[in-house]
Amino acid sequence: MVKIPKSHPRYWSLYYREKIIEGMEKGMTAKAGLIAHGRGEAFDYLIGEKTIEPAERAIRAAVAKFLLAEWPVISVNGNVAALVPKETIELAKALNAKLEINLFYRTEERVRAIERELRKYDPNIEILGINPTKRIPGLEHERGKVDENGIWRADVVLVPLEDGDRTEALVKMGKFVVTVDLNPLSRSARMADITIVDNIVRAYPRMVELAKEMRNLPREKLRKIVESYDNGKTLSDVLLHIRNRLTELAEEGIWRRKEL
Ligand code: ATP
Ligand code: MG
Repeated sequence: MVKIPKSHPRYWSLYYREKIIEGMEKGMTAKAGLIAHGRGEAFDYLIGEKTIEPAERAIRAAVAKFLLAEWPVISVNGNVAALVPKETIELAKALNAKLEINLFYRTEERVRAIERELRKYDPNIEILGINPTKRIPGLEHERGKVDENGIWRADVVLVPLEDGDRTEALVKMGKFVVTVDLNPLSRSARMADITIVDNIVRAYPRMVELAKEMRNLPREKLRKIVESYDNGKTLSDVLLHIRNRLTELAEEGIWRRKEL
């Protein structure tokens, strides 16, 4: 990995960019994953590179929904394994959810590389999606493969950094779908039941923290959190946040400004 000086004003952005490149070198991340990462970075600039209130609200509802679920599954792809492998495992444990490797550009090598990476953090963890035998209706062969004991049976699924078509197909199957996606305008963001508009590198640690905090809440309380959640309002609030932020920046002026 290229050494980035800590003093660089965009250290963390460069750090995660390197993680994605490393993910590709390890055979986990697809070329298209590099492009998707850049798209995410662009939206993070607009949001302000922090967890905004609508994202915190979505995270809380998502954690509540997962704690209530009967067969919760967290999907892992090449970008997720490159950015947050350790946090993915922590989250699965905190939410008592199953992990499934599920790829848009599925190759057996990529699946094995991701499995290897996850096992570095827990050699014994159950990982689904190695031999998927079922298919999501409406998606072509490779793109639709899912594990019979994972996404196929799940009532609640977390599909971060996911393609819009697959998100929509899962919703059509009757799954309750949670996504993490920095682009509030993407099809995934618009189709999911709960959309966490945040960088996964911030959202996952926060979800782990909240899961530990909320898992002793009475189920009735968790149900109330889910029932009172409104994803349409969340997405609108994200758009308004971006608009208001840009208006403020434009009025203050950004020329030669060091921090945004
Ligand atoms: P869609 O298919 O949903 O319309 P898309 O085709 O633009 O969106 P995909 O490549 O299918 O995008 O999905 C990847 C999504 O993940 C993008 O919306 C991108 O903004 C988002 N993304 C990329 N990196 C991150 C990240 N680190 N955290 C959160 N979201 C991210
Ligand atoms: Mg897409």
